[in-house]
Amino acid sequence: MSNRKQFSRRGLMFVISSPSGAGKTALSRRLLEDEPDLTLSVSVTTRAPRPGEQNGVDYHFVSTEDFSIMKNKQELLESAKVFENYYGTPKAEVEQALEAGRDVLFDIDWQGAQQLAQKMRDDLVKVFILPPSTQELEQRLTKRAQDPPEVVAGRMAKAGTEISHWAEYDYVIINDEFEAAYQEIRAILHAERLKRERREGLLDFVDGLLAGL
Ligand code: 5GP
Repeated sequence: MSNRKQFSRRGLMFVISSPSGAGKTALSRRLLEDEPDLTLSVSVTTRAPRPGEQNGVDYHFVSTEDFSIMKNKQELLESAKVFENYYGTPKAEVEQALEAGRDVLFDIDWQGAQQLAQKMRDDLVKVFILPPSTQELEQRLTKRAQDPPEVVAGRMAKAGTEISHWAEYDYVIINDEFEAAYQEIRAILHAERLKRERREGLLDFVDGLLAGL
């Protein structure tokens, strides 16, 4: 642990979007491993779990009915239909984490990113991940081998829609090499944490400095 002085700051909302297959999940996982102050916002979804996915860890898997109830009760910060399934961000968990000064990572699509931007622009940092090429994207989707060919074809078609929203993001990373892309995304998180507007605890510190002059 570093002994450097810590200052209180507002937690930030770190949104990562990309077409599926661009490497967003692997980048997010690594970031969560390396950054203890970062919490994943676990979404609710009506889609079926994939092999290896755990309820409450990867997603909260819910029925369409339960999803509608949560939405009607305004328990979701944002929600969207993606690939014929519904996805949404539970509000309570995010609010708790931000209040505790923790940063929250969102793996959500462009529709969710737009909704969050309308509600809480100041705390939001939006990063878009691009694949290095169309061929590479197709290869990665095929290699995942969890989805049948028609699903891969559907995801390729949807990739165009997702990519067309790239210019709505604050940062864009081309994931041609995992380690390099990872260092870039981590650098963004670190720089954003240092933004003056977020560092409320600095006010007293600077007052103290000035008082001693
Ligand atoms: P997958 O089914 O492959 O896990 O996710 C499909 C897409 O839905 C991905 O682009 C993912 O980022 C997006 N997604 C996952 N959770 C949410 C959510 O809570 N809200 C929105 N808007 N998109 C989500």
